Order: sequence, then structure tokens, then C-alpha cells
Amino acid sequence: MARPDEVLQTPLQFLRGVGPRKAADFQRAGLQTLEDLLYRFPLRYEDRSRLQPIASLREGQTSSISGELVQSGLRATRRPGFRIFEALVRDSSGAVRAAWFNSSYLKDQLRPRQRLVLHGTLERSPFGLQFTNPDFELIDDDETDALHIGRIVPVYERARSITPKMQRRLVHEALLKLPETLDEPLPESVRTRLSLPDRLTALRQVHFPDAETPIDQLNAFKTPAQQRLVFEEFFRFQVGLLLRRRESDAERKVYQTKVDDRIRESLRAVLPFHLTGGQRQALKDIGDDMQRPHPMNRLLQGDVGAGKTIVAVLAAVLAMENGQQVAFMAPTEILAEQHFATVSRLLGATRFRVGLLTGHRGASERRSLAKAVAAGELHLVVGTHALVQRSVRFATLGLVIIDEQHRFGVLQRAELREKGLLPDMLVMTATPIPRTLALTTYGDLDVSSIRELPPGRTPVRTTARPENRREEIYAFMRGELSAGRQAYVVYPIISESEKTDLRAATEMADHLAQDVFPEFRVALLHGKMKQDAKDRVMRAFAAGELHILVSTTVIEVGIDVANATVMIVEHAERFGLSQLHQLRGRVGRGSHVSSCILLYQYPLTDQARERLKVMGETTDGFVIAEKDLELRGPGDVFGTRQAGAPTLRVGDLLRDHQLMETARHEASVWLDDQTRDPEWLDEFRRTWGSRYGLVAVG
Ligand code: ADP
Ligand code: MG
Repeated sequence: MARPDEVLQTPLQFLRGVGPRKAADFQRAGLQTLEDLLYRFPLRYEDRSRLQPIASLREGQTSSISGELVQSGLRATRRPGFRIFEALVRDSSGAVRAAWFNSSYLKDQLRPRQRLVLHGTLERSPFGLQFTNPDFELIDDDETDALHIGRIVPVYERARSITPKMQRRLVHEALLKLPETLDEPLPESVRTRLSLPDRLTALRQVHFPDAETPIDQLNAFKTPAQQRLVFEEFFRFQVGLLLRRRESDAERKVYQTKVDDRIRESLRAVLPFHLTGGQRQALKDIGDDMQRPHPMNRLLQGDVGAGKTIVAVLAAVLAMENGQQVAFMAPTEILAEQHFATVSRLLGATRFRVGLLTGHRGASERRSLAKAVAAGELHLVVGTHALVQRSVRFATLGLVIIDEQHRFGVLQRAELREKGLLPDMLVMTATPIPRTLALTTYGDLDVSSIRELPPGRTPVRTTARPENRREEIYAFMRGELSAGRQAYVVYPIISESEKTDLRAATEMADHLAQDVFPEFRVALLHGKMKQDAKDRVMRAFAAGELHILVSTTVIEVGIDVANATVMIVEHAERFGLSQLHQLRGRVGRGSHVSSCILLYQYPLTDQARERLKVMGETTDGFVIAEKDLELRGPGDVFGTRQAGAPTLRVGDLLRDHQLMETARHEASVWLDDQTRDPEWLDEFRRTWGSRYGLVAVG
């Protein structure tokens, strides 16, 4: 017997009017089944139950009107090839103009005597008030009219040949196919406790809301029906994450870690200073994790300079005191070298032996290092990710530390597990993750955050200046350089215009070297350079042999040149907030006061203005991360390619973050509830699978 909700898996071709071409268009939009269609929320809702009489329209007002098209035509403009399609629409109260730019094709769609609905904002034009580029829908005067007019209607995002109107009809038809006894993807107990509407009611209300539903609430996606479907998605997502989490908690590590007084003493012996509160808490979190029988999966986040390294080194000492080896990985060779220097210094007085393994070393040296690692003679090895990926075999690998690459860390974990290794993992990042995203993207990582900086730091002075104040800024720079400091000048590279951008950066480097600062040494660093050429430049800058580094990239994340005190960001209006913050983190690393100058050019978008303002107001990476999320949305903060980011269909991490918290809580309560329905979980495991695009991770 077919299960009641199998109808949801019906391919969309089974709907009236969906032939191969439309089915293909749906498919390209990611929709194949009735379920896909029904779980695609409208973009917005229009209240067409109260269409406004044309005579009562006011300038600036957004509204829907319905009427008959009396006149239309194309008008040429002074710009060659740029034409405007104009129409006059009339109802019983009056008439109004509508104009669509560069839409000549409309002349075949909009003809006199046709009835239509317009939705848009009334604006002033040289020809009087008009709707400019309004949305429109033709009314056919047939039996389906009741679906499109005289009610609150859903407006969908167009999917190629499938118009919003067509979709409305298809959704309506799909809803009619659903049985009254549709399966319930939420556990009954949860649904009852939260008083959520049932699934069928919710689906109906989301697409065809009752007449009395407040339109604002609908457009804010806050009606009970909408929230119920979003919660459904989040809840199942969180149950999946928690299950996965519980499975990894069931794994047993090979090497056990213990802490006793002797080990505490040797940790203290390594410490060159007092830990900050945040560092102490992070160390405690890590120590607790490491003493558990299952592998640690912890993300340590803290701003640049927050002091993550010492925490990692103490974790390493803890592992080594327990007879384990440690792999310490950095994203670039230079960073690996810096870490090697730091770690060697800190562990100099201990019995632990530290090695550096990078491509920079000769082949024979690498071989003998690898041998020492395999024999267990080296206790801690610093390197790039090649460390674990390549042929290096550890005798007793107990802890893996990954710096500045949280994304990479997730993949690494899967790779290690495949090799049958289950070490503790500590991933560090200076790009804090807003809490909402930490709950989802890294839902199965534990997170420690170091929020305060060590004492005695002077915050970087940040100023935003228009480009025409350049002379002043050069004068300031000259002062710093003459006092023996160094400076960065960063250029944005936007992929579409990469060549032009690169040329601008190259020309600027030449200009600075020849015309502005002939007495100083200037070098250029860009992404198109070979790795060893980049390394050479970076090394020279770190050694103080270069004074000004003009760079197009942010590649050298985490590079530490304490003597650099000036960061100039050209075209600062083009950078995202987190990027600006990362760039600022390149300076302020030594005892000298540092400055970050954000040079911008007009025109500034509101967002760009806001970003520059935030940069001036705070140096707290956590605040900046939240703001970045708010301004850009989750997809952009991490890039959509981000491994581990969930594919959500109805939920929006930004809009619905509160619901995600609720879902997290409810999922955990439900999983702990001994009286819960065991069949639900079986069914869940059967279907969860690849739903959120998370299978490949972890
Ligand atoms: P990040 O978190 O960016 O990796 P680091 O670990 O490189 O930061 O630390 C930045 C600097 O602060 C280093 O020079 C380090 O020695 C110093 N530092 C770290 N913690 C403390 C502390 N508790 N007190 C004083 N200095 C500290
Ligand atoms: Mg660091």
C-alpha cells in the first residue's frame, strides 16, 4: 500500500500543463517533485482582496491595482537602442501610466483590452505619476481567476519559462492532490508542545493564506504556518546533527589523556605569562575534552592577537606528556615557519623535540624528518596540510592542531578518520563565527571563544578617508617609515575585472616606488605570483628589508610582522567587513601604535558606508562577524561553496535564527526523551540522508 505522503514524491510532470520543457525548467530550479514545489515559499504576498481604485493612488505608495489596458506602445529614447514600453491602465475610477524600461518584448504580451493586475510603487516621472517597471499579471477571465485575484496571492520567484502566475496554479493543483492524512515529519509530542499547525494546514496556508491573515506578518514570514514549516526543516536538521554528534561521541580514541599534578607543573613551566580569562577557559575546555574517551572536535576562535597559539601549545604539551605526538598545521609555509619558531622557543627547556616539515626543506632533510616522526622520536611536527595528507606516518598521533583554516579542518577530520586515526582535533580561527552559524555550519564542533586581548595592547586606530585626502596620508606614512616602521598597501581584486585591478595595483606600486617614496623600498605581492616568489617577498618584508608592501590579496593570513604599523586599504568600499577586519589584524602586533586607513571612493552604497562606520566603531571581531552576517547574509559570509553549510529550502538563517535556537533545544530534548516514538527515528534515518548537503563532511 502506498504511504500517504508518497504523493509528495510525484514528479512535477504529473501536474496539468507541465510538459517536458517546463519540467526541465523546474529541474534547473532544483524542483522535481510536488514536495519540492510545495516547500518553495513564495517570494512575497500581495493582498489582492482589496485592490486599490486608481483614482486614490498616491505618489510613493506601493500597491496593487487591477484594470484594463487601454493603450500601449514603444517609445524611443535619446540613448540608442534604449526603448521604453508604455501602457495606460484604467479601472472604473480612473487611469494610470505604467512604463517598463528596455522591455520591447512586452509589446507581444500586453495588448489593448487585456485585463491585468499591476504591483509596484507610484513614482514621479517627466510625464507625471507612473508605475515604473511594475510586476504585472494578465487576468484571463476564466474559472481560474479566483486564484489570482480577490484574495491574498502568493508571488513566486520566476523559474525560467514558469511565470509566478503559472506556479500559483500548479501549487494550487498540487495542494488538491494531497490526502487529508498527510504524514507528519515532526514528532507529535513536539508539535503539540509548541502548538504548531499540522503539515497539511501549514502547506495550504503558506501558499493560499486565509483572507484575514495580516499581510505584513506574511511578508515577514512570521505566520504560524510559515514558522511551522521552517521549524520542521530546522528541527530535522538539528536532529541529524545531534545524531551525528552522538555517533562521533561513541567513537573511542586510541590514546588516552590524563592530567595529574606533574603534568600541571610542566604546563606551568612552559607558560611565559599569565593567561587571560578567555585563554584559561579555552584551555580548560580543551583539557576536559582531551580527557574524554572520544576524540575532541573543538573550534577555538579569537581575534588576531587574542593569544590562541599559547593555548594550542599547552594542549600539545598535555598530549605529549601523555606519550602522544602532535601535528601542528598552518595554511602557508611562512606561517608554519613562524609557528615553528614560537613553539621551539616555548618548548626549548622541555624534553620534547619539535620539527618543521615544509616543501622548503630539501628532499633528504624531509626524508630524515619523516623517519624521525615514524619512529616517534619527534614529538611535535609543524607544517602545512601536506603534513597529514602526504606520506608522513606518525607513530602515536594523538592531537592535530589546525591554524586559520576551519573549513579545511572539517575535511581533514574525515580524511584522518578514513585512515583509521581518531586523534583529538583543535581548529583555530581568527574569523569568528556568529552564533547562529556556529549552531548550524559547525553544529557538531564544540566552540571556545577568546573574547579579550592580552593586557597592554593599544587598539589599532582606524580611520576612513576619501581618496582625495591621499597626500595627507602619504605624509603620515612617511613619518612612520622614517621612524623605522613598515607599511602595507592593499588593493582589492574583483574577479570580473581582475586584469584591470591587477594593473592598477602594479601601477600603484611603481608610482609609490618612483614618485612618492623613492627613498624607501617597495615591493608588490599578488595572487598570480608563483608561491616561492611570494614567499621571497614575504620573507624580505618580515626581515625588514622592504618598507612598503603593496598587495592585492589577503593570502598571507596570520602573517606576523610586528614592525608594520600602517595598513592602507585602497577602495575600502569594495571589501567585506570580515575582510577589512582581517586586513586590520595585520598591524597592531608589536609595541608601537598602529593605524589602519580605509581609503574610499565615491559613490558609496549604504552598505559600504555602514561597513566603514562599523570598522571605525569597533575592533571586536565577534561584533564585526555578527554585523557582517546582518549586512550580507550567511551565504556570502562564508561563500556558498563553504563545506558544511546547510542547504535550506524554507528557512533563512538570518531571518529565522531564533527558530534555529528553538529547534536545537527541542531536538536535544526530544532525543533525550525515553518515551519518544522509536519509529520516528527509524523513518528519519531513512530519509535524512543527503537532504542538507552535509553527508560528505565529518
Ligand atoms: P593569535 O590568537 O592571533 O594566534 P598569538 O597567539 O599569536 O595570537 O598571540 C599574539 C601575541 O600575544 C603573541 O606575541 C603572544 O606571545 C602574546 N600573548 C598571548 N597571550 C598572552 C598573555 N596572556 N599575556 C601576554 N601576552 C600574550
Ligand atoms: Mg595565530
